[in-house]
Amino acid sequence: MNSPTTPQSLRQSPDAAGFFGNYGGVFVPPGLEGPLAEVREAYEVVSRSHDFIEELRRIRRHFQGRPTPVYHAARLSKKLGATQIYLKREDLNHTGAHKLNHCMGEGLLARYMGKKKLIAETGAGMHGVALATAAAYFGLECDIYMGEVDIAKQAPNVSRMQILGARVIPATHGLKTLKEAVDSALVAYVQDPVNQIYCIGSVVGPHPFPMMVRDFQQVVGIEAREQFIEMTGNLPDIVTACVGGGSNAMGIFAGFIDDEVELHGVEPLGKGSAIGDHSATMTYGREGVIHGFRCYLLQNENGEPAPVHSIASGLDYPGVGPEHCHLKDSGRVKYVTATDKESVEAFYVLSRNEGIIPALESSHAVAHAMRLARENPKYPRTILVNLSGRGDKDMDYMIEHYGTGDNYAI
Ligand SMILES: *Cc1c(COP(=O)(O)O)cnc(C)c1O
Repeated sequence: MNSPTTPQSLRQSPDAAGFFGNYGGVFVPPGLEGPLAEVREAYEVVSRSHDFIEELRRIRRHFQGRPTPVYHAARLSKKLGATQIYLKREDLNHTGAHKLNHCMGEGLLARYMGKKKLIAETGAGMHGVALATAAAYFGLECDIYMGEVDIAKQAPNVSRMQILGARVIPATHGLKTLKEAVDSALVAYVQDPVNQIYCIGSVVGPHPFPMMVRDFQQVVGIEAREQFIEMTGNLPDIVTACVGGGSNAMGIFAGFIDDEVELHGVEPLGKGSAIGDHSATMTYGREGVIHGFRCYLLQNENGEPAPVHSIASGLDYPGVGPEHCHLKDSGRVKYVTATDKESVEAFYVLSRNEGIIPALESSHAVAHAMRLARENPKYPRTILVNLSGRGDKDMDYMIEHYGTGDNYAI
């Protein structure tokens, strides 16, 4: 919400056309302009509504289990040196990740707008599960579009969505993965924008989604700042988070954007820097348009989105949120990378030294914090990591490919 707690510097962007500097905007076919304007106008009203803000607060406390704690990973820190690592525990948010923060906001907005059905695409199924949860809570219908290939790969999440009452609709054209699912969801949205609302899964897409999702996620940063100061008496030296589309990172960065705190976004470097081997959009991309907005984009010579890879399926997106692009250009946030290999190590090290199994996405941010601690083992600084989700979804894959992790003792 653009509530009184919104930091001044975030309130200044985007501009009226939805641009953060050069990035963002609305690049959509004419059929989508009307429905997007309706969402924008409705959000402008509810984001100033006391009733809406109060109801979302109540939902966060009683349904989601917020505030999530900040935890001092003292045992891990001690093994690495003098750096103290803290975790914002979004893995303890209901459904096990930060995504529910914006899905509950989008669901509540849908109810205020009188919509009957939430629709979205999903890749690995995490956004689909969070949105199906919100739909069940609000008593709304839910259609989740998913590539046929992903449906076969992600059976547990498909079951979860179905048990929650959502319809999972296969996208059967092209490569039958995320991009085709987006196409199908948008076609369905244009067909009936009166009864349906499209709910995006990150700080991406055309205006107003990047702003709206950021506003719904900033609860993470606002809570974390207060909790960190209460625990330590100070601000952290560095705040870090993984960046796929960029919603968990925008959420935690929002709390510290006006402070003298270094902000580090961690992109997935996958198997290396060759095109197709990674998904490090801001490190290797150049400006382009994808899914209705302008951003840094991994693309081929023809300007088409390039194939991407990351061990963490929630991070493999060739674009990135427009506000991150602006924050990179302005120098306020530093963007770095972590490889699959580094993230696998962090996955096991955190599990074994703290009793917390992180999502492979979040493991990228943990890997970066571990690297900083090892680089400067005598320097007593503090690093706050946004632990965006839990790793239950990744366990079968990890056991099959990397075993139980006995080689990762530190
Ligand atoms: C989806 C997901 C991400 C990536 O999304 P962002 O919008 O970049 O935050 C990160 N962590 C977890 C656990 C996820 O499920």
